[in-house]
Parts: sequence; C-alpha cells; structure tokens
Amino acid sequence: MNRSSEASARLLSCQGLTMHFGGLAALDSLNLDVLKGEVLGLVGPNGSGKTTFFNVITGIYSPTEGAVRFNGQELQGLGPQKINRCGIARTFQRSRLCLELTIFDNLMIGDHNRLDHGLIGNIFLRRKFQRDLESHVERSRQLLKTFSGRLADNLFARVSSFPMIDRRRIEICRALIGGPRLLLLDEPSAGMTHEETRQLMDDILEVAGREQNITIIIIEHEMNVIKRITDRCVVLNFGRKIFEGTYDEMTRHADVQAAYLGGKEVAA
Ligand code: ADP
Ligand code: MG
Repeated sequence: MNRSSEASARLLSCQGLTMHFGGLAALDSLNLDVLKGEVLGLVGPNGSGKTTFFNVITGIYSPTEGAVRFNGQELQGLGPQKINRCGIARTFQRSRLCLELTIFDNLMIGDHNRLDHGLIGNIFLRRKFQRDLESHVERSRQLLKTFSGRLADNLFARVSSFPMIDRRRIEICRALIGGPRLLLLDEPSAGMTHEETRQLMDDILEVAGREQNITIIIIEHEMNVIKRITDRCVVLNFGRKIFEGTYDEMTRHADVQAAYLGGKEVAA
C-alpha cells in the first residue's frame, strides 16, 4: 500500500496519546490507527486505560499530550457534542439511559444534532419539525427492528419496563441513530448471559454488515466475543499498547499472557 492509500484507509489516528490523572498515566504515549470498516477489539486488564481511551476520543477528557485525527480532521479542542457531530458515537460501560423516559425519547437524545433547529426554529418551522419527527419515528423503528421487533413495536414504552439485554440494545441504537462513522462499544456484554451476549453480537454484526461505512471499536472482557467479532485486536496494559494483531496472534503472545497472569488467561 502506498502512503496516500494508507492514509485514506485510516479513519482514526492517535499519536502519542497520553492522559495523566495526577501521577497516574492512564494512557501512556499511545499510537494507534483504526482502519475504515474494521471491527477492532480493545482488550486489557481492569484499569489498563480502555475506557479512558474512549473518554479521550469522545472529548470527555482532553489528553495531557498527543493528537487524535478522525477522518483527516484534528479533534483537539472539540467538545463531546462537536465530536459526535463529526461522526463518533459510543455506549457507556454503565448504562446512561433515562429509565423513566420512553425508548423514543432516549433515541431522540442520540439524534438531537439532526433534529434540533433551535428554540426559534422549532417554533417557526413547526411543519418541518413535525416532518423530521415523523421520519425520526420511522428511522427509530427500522433501527430497533434489527435488534428486536418487540422494541420497535413499543417505541413509546418506558425503558424501565425492559430487561437488561433490551436496554443494551436501546443504548446501541441510540449511538447508531445519528449514523456514526465510528461506533465505540464499552463492554456491551457486561451483566448479560452467554446466550444474550451471542444474540447481541449477532445484531451488532448485522448492523455492521448492512452499514458498510461503519467502523467499530469494542472493549470486551469476553474473549469468545472478541474472537468472533473482531478483525484485529489491540491490548493495553498500564495505558500502553503491548500488542496489536489478530486474535490468534494475541492468544499466543507472551506479553499478553503475562498481563493476564493472576487474572484469567487469554483462551485460544
Ligand atoms: P479500564 O477501562 O481499562 O478498566 P480505565 O480507563 O477506566 O480502565 O482506568 C484507567 C486508570 O485510570 C485506572 O487506574 C483508573 O482508576 C484511572 N482513572 C480513570 N478515570 C479517572 C478519573 N476521572 N480520575 C482519576 N483516575 C481515573
Ligand atoms: Mg472500562
């Protein structure tokens, strides 16, 4: 691959990314490229900096040092909302759904960039607002249907009435509804059974297959999920990248095995 096609294959590029919390380096000089269309697994023991990486990419924290380029654009200094508008969406390790609101309300929060014309606009452009709202209902139903027909049929039910797996699905739909180029999933299988996890991954793979343009970074402890869903893996330990390659290479890598000693081994 020559230089220019290499650059065009890159969606996200991090150079020397460092995040200090007091004396602790949660990320330490991380260089990482994410390629267009890939599913990248982000792996590492607890506290290795995985969630911090997402928080830095999405503008929740500004890095102590280093640069992030997304689709050729420098993200430095942009806040979470602007970064979301650039095409990066995420789910959180702990659910951030508003449980007492409906599925639709929660999805609307994920698509406010597109729907909001501002207060004056919303009043004077009522017709347009109504049309947008209707198309939003339709898009929400379509998206939810990939994950569950029951969710699509209950768009105006409260999120609190659904079990954990459905809440995860709603959260992923909320991230997807704005049509992101990059989807960041932070431990989507946490708290779910093997069977539920398998189903959820099927749904995510279906969306990834359909939305050709989407790139996914998934943080996951469940190695079966990483094995099944990822094209490539990156392993962090103490904020540093200790491995980058395929799942099979990862399971054989001595540094990765060592990082997990005392915890669980990485199963081949
Ligand atoms: P992981 O997601 O890999 O389990 P995190 O990125 O959440 O790890 O955390 C990496 C390290 O940074 C941990 O030692 C954690 O305690 C620390 N850390 C994360 N966020 C903060 C914060 N806001 N303030 C202080 N320390 C933090
Ligand atoms: Mg985490």
